[in-house]
Amino acid sequence: MTIERTLILAKPDAVSRGLVGELIARLEQRGYLIVAMRLMQLDGERARTHYVEHKDKPFFAGLVNFITSGPIVALCAEGENAIEGVRQLMGATDPLSAAPGTIRADFAQSIGRNLVHGSDSKMSAERELAIFFSENDFVSRRHDMERWFRE
Ligand code: UDP
Ligand code: MG
Repeated sequence: MTIERTLILAKPDAVSRGLVGELIARLEQRGYLIVAMRLMQLDGERARTHYVEHKDKPFFAGLVNFITSGPIVALCAEGENAIEGVRQLMGATDPLSAAPGTIRADFAQSIGRNLVHGSDSKMSAERELAIFFSENDFVSRRHDMERWFRE
């Protein structure tokens, strides 16, 4: 059993449209445990660090501009294979390609306003979580994990 932690961002469109609760509900329904959470507004420097893998892409400037445009909610979810599982809940990057029932298909129309970020690998989860949280921001949900999800 691989218990993982992953970074999720409710992007400014999710906060502004009042979809943070919906997003959290879907994570909780799947059984992921929130172990850190923070409402904040990103500055350009932190946004560029977070999205550094895309720094040479044509959409980079617009992406940084958008992600810094209003408050976001950053959270860390923990669970079995949580990195891939959360990506599955989110759906494909472009809402038009996302499967019905995923967050992006159900609530978004365009790739530039796709509501949510989720880490895509163990390495990016570790790197990204460190951008948003420090060690003492994390709580232990070990008790809930044992009670609800592990025998
Ligand atoms: N993005 C965009 N245009 C593109 C590709 C990506 O605006 O052609 C944005 C989109 O909001 C996406 C983010 O850049 O969520 C990061 O892209 P990535 O390929 O990492 O997609 P994700 O991991 O978010 O599914
Ligand atoms: Mg990505």
